[in-house]
Amino acid sequence: MTNNKYKVMVVEDETNIRNLVVTMLETSGYQVLIAKNCKTAQTIYTSHMPDLIILDLGLPDKDGMNLLEYVRKDSLTPIIVLSARSDEKDKVLASDMGANDYVTKPFGSAELLARVRTALRNNRNCSNEGKLTGGRFVLKDLEIDYDARQIFIKNEEIKLTQTEYNIIELLSVIRLSIRV
Ligand code: CA
Repeated sequence: MTNNKYKVMVVEDETNIRNLVVTMLETSGYQVLIAKNCKTAQTIYTSHMPDLIILDLGLPDKDGMNLLEYVRKDSLTPIIVLSARSDEKDKVLASDMGANDYVTKPFGSAELLARVRTALRNNRNCSNEGKLTGGRFVLKDLEIDYDARQIFIKNEEIKLTQTEYNIIELLSVIRLSIRV
């Protein structure tokens, strides 16, 4: 087990919570990588390729959603969002952007550890074909299925060329990232 520890990156700027999560993970045998802001998290992610990311949304430099988007561009690394925001909208947005789970602060140690185990297990079980589970974007009558690369208006599929689809997808992602 010592040579095969799961690497978990904890992205959290609040010292107390970070220390708590780190201690909890290390005690349970995980190798922990620490980032206190979005920029460091991107660097560590790229250089260390963690097996799982625990991500706070309220970071000093950027919104944690930026990291979510960055990671999901090329990997299915499980991400558990840790947030003080209990807003339903944020949960939906995080899940649409590919977060595997969402834990609202304050949380119990046992609860978080259980979710870490579940996320790692699900990731192992799912096929490693590198396919992104892009989810769906819904805005009024418009619905985009990122996995199938299909666009629907009032549940009717709209036939588009690849380029047209790419433009719509890009616009939807921009909309998500500026969080209108
Ligand atoms: Ca924070």
